[in-house]
Amino acid sequence: MSDYRIETKCIQSGYTPKNGEPRVIPIYQSTTFKYENSDAMGKLFDLEDSGYFYTRLQNPTNDAVAAKICDMEGGVAAMLTSSGQAANFYAIMNIAESGDHIICSSAVYGGTYNLYAHTIRKMGIEATFVDPDASEDELNAAFKDNTKAVVGETIANPGLNVLDIEKFAKVAHAHGVPLIVDNTFATPINCRPFEWGADIVTHSTTKYMDGHATAVGGCIVDSGNFDWEAHAEKFPGLTTPDETYHGLVYTERFGKGAYITKATSQMMRDLGSIQSPQNAFLLNIGLETLHLRMPRHCENALNAAKFLKSHEKVAWVNCPALEGDKYYDLAQKYMPNGTCGVITFGVKGGRDACVKMMDALKMISIVTHVADSRSCVLHPASHTHRQMNEQELLEAGVQPDLIRFSVGTENIEDIIDDLKQALEIV
Ligand SMILES: *Cc1c(COP(=O)(O)O)cnc(C)c1O
Repeated sequence: MSDYRIETKCIQSGYTPKNGEPRVIPIYQSTTFKYENSDAMGKLFDLEDSGYFYTRLQNPTNDAVAAKICDMEGGVAAMLTSSGQAANFYAIMNIAESGDHIICSSAVYGGTYNLYAHTIRKMGIEATFVDPDASEDELNAAFKDNTKAVVGETIANPGLNVLDIEKFAKVAHAHGVPLIVDNTFATPINCRPFEWGADIVTHSTTKYMDGHATAVGGCIVDSGNFDWEAHAEKFPGLTTPDETYHGLVYTERFGKGAYITKATSQMMRDLGSIQSPQNAFLLNIGLETLHLRMPRHCENALNAAKFLKSHEKVAWVNCPALEGDKYYDLAQKYMPNGTCGVITFGVKGGRDACVKMMDALKMISIVTHVADSRSCVLHPASHTHRQMNEQELLEAGVQPDLIRFSVGTENIEDIIDDLKQALEIV
């Protein structure tokens, strides 16, 4: 970890050119790398030497950008993945296998819910979903002998529940398993979960990190703090010989780098969800301005939330940074400088009124995305969750009148003007 402050890390970390080298990290648009003799390459395959040989395993552009995110989060090792979904998949599969169990907050991104509730279940890993506000006792009750990890989101998409990271970490550690936190919405500008006890952080870099809606990507960062050897019987993949690498033991050979080395050399080798170096290059440009964009997203979101809250046609508003919000106190504790640019609200008159209002928006567009510089909205009941009836929507925690509003970095007066004219039409 560098000693730089977070704003400087956004710009300087990850890549330091030597004399005469390109100032900006180049796009290493090469699938493969050349060696002088066969022995040199053989050592790479045995993980005896470190170096590049094939981009599915490692690529210099990707590594530089992963190193930057690692430094921003305060971790010891990181890897990029092709998407946030791949990051959340690998984060689990790297330490759990058929017959194992995980605990996950029920307030998570829909894609993560499907992945853990259905897809990994077909691979033999069972997930128990717990209330994001569960007490320590309720969390303790969810554990089984075969539990391998606890998972949550710093700020849930789209529920906007704020995770009590310290509480979840304490309970996970008491049971000898790591806490994995998806820090996509907060970003390391607003919250660094390792400082509160989380062990592994994941990201959909597609969102604020890229910030311009140009490149799908993901990232996994390891704090290096979880002691796998102290719970060796739970994590044999890290603490016993890997026969596909001549009996190497990850924790013995790589110490604090064990988790990410295994994820690269096994998961990525076999499943291959790499981020393209082109996307990593775009991501890096996004990261350079993340510290400038996040405060603006947060300020605009808070002002938009205040405007909506005072509007007679708006039924309710969720914004964890807004005083009076259910999660205001937790947000102040974990994210005193701001939460994120996403808020949710309902229009009086329910589903039909919401659709009418959204259709009347002029600048704010309807897209399946959040967290880029352009303001946008989505109505889960009409879009991502449209196959559900009202009862099913409520069970899934999606009120039929919920509009997810990702507030961009435009001038706040233009954002409010657009909301105002659209609400007039309802
Ligand atoms: C979007 C999102 C994901 C999935 O990321 P992709 O890059 O779209 O695969 C995971 N977690 C959260 C919190 C997200 O918002």
